[in-house]
This record gives sequence, structure tokens and C-alpha cells, in this order.
Amino acid sequence: MVTGTSGCVFCGIVAGRLPSRRILEDEHTVAFLDIRPAAPGHTLVVPREHVRDLWDVSATVHGQVAAMVHRVAGLLATALTPDGINVKHNSGSAAGQDVFHFHTHVVPRWQHDGLDLTWRSPRASPDRLDDVLKRIRRATEPDQALRVSTMNAHPH
Ligand code: 5GP
Ligand code: ZN
Repeated sequence: MVTGTSGCVFCGIVAGRLPSRRILEDEHTVAFLDIRPAAPGHTLVVPREHVRDLWDVSATVHGQVAAMVHRVAGLLATALTPDGINVKHNSGSAAGQDVFHFHTHVVPRWQHDGLDLTWRSPRASPDRLDDVLKRIRRATEPDQALRVSTMNAHPH
């Protein structure tokens, strides 16, 4: 679903109505520096088309964003020589999305930079993992749910 774009800050940036620090762009996407960088070089990659989130974006446009993320990672590696890179995307306010124009964060990382983007969850019990796997399999192929329970009866 493509929604209205007049109030969208990233549509404003794509159209050039609002300022940004662009580092790369192509026919389908624009990559520009985040104004509140988690690290130097923190870049946002957006499709030119206004789409809201991961459920709204087409596979084609998602692929175009992914291709630009890949280019940006290469450029940042050359320019800033980070030790690593995080690629992060938030869809939905529950996941931390603040700007509702699809975007992917590309964040250069350095050893001991102190940035914490990780989680330290305890290992789940096999029952919990199997339960969620069954729920997911049921949504794809109803038959799969049965096969999962049979497969997991003989784990290696
Ligand atoms: P989200 O939380 O939606 O995944 O991330 C939105 C990001 O957009 C934030 O990191 C925020 O700093 C950035 N941002 C918000 N407004 C602007 C803006 O006007 N210009 C730029 N360059 N970045 C913005
Ligand atoms: Zn937009």
C-alpha cells in the first residue's frame, strides 16, 4: 500500500524539499546520514517510493534497498575502515520504528565502541521452540506441523 507522502520527512528528503547529507543514490533508493547517528557514518537507506514498513514494501523494492545497503557497506568500509557493521531495520512502533517510511540503518562498528545493539536472552526450552515452530509451520503448510513434531522426536 502506498500512502500519502506530503507529511513524510523521508519523502521530503528524497524529493529534495528537505536537506540531507546523501552519500549514494540510484534510480530506486537514496542513502543519507542519520541526523542522530549511533556511530560515525550511520546511514539510512530508503526507497524513493513511499512505503510504510516491511509488510508494505514489495519484494522488488526490498531487494533494491538491500542492494543499496550492500553498496553503502562497501563505501563505509573504504571510507571509515570500521571493524564491523550492523544492519538494522525497525517495522512498527513496537519494534522502535519512529519514521514510517521504510528504511534500513547501516551502522559502522569499532571494537570497544560501547554501542549495545545486542540481546542476551536465555536459551529457550525445546518445548518452547517446538511450539513456536509449529505455530509458524501451521501458517505456511498445515501438514508441516505434524512433520515437525515427528522430526524433533529424534534430535541429533
Ligand atoms: P527508526 O527509529 O524509525 O528506525 O529510525 C528513524 C531514524 O531517522 C532515526 O535514527 C532518526 O535519527 C532519523 N531521522 C529522523 N528524522 C530525520 C531527518 O530529518 N533527517 C535524517 N537524516 N535523519 C532523520
Ligand atoms: Zn515517505
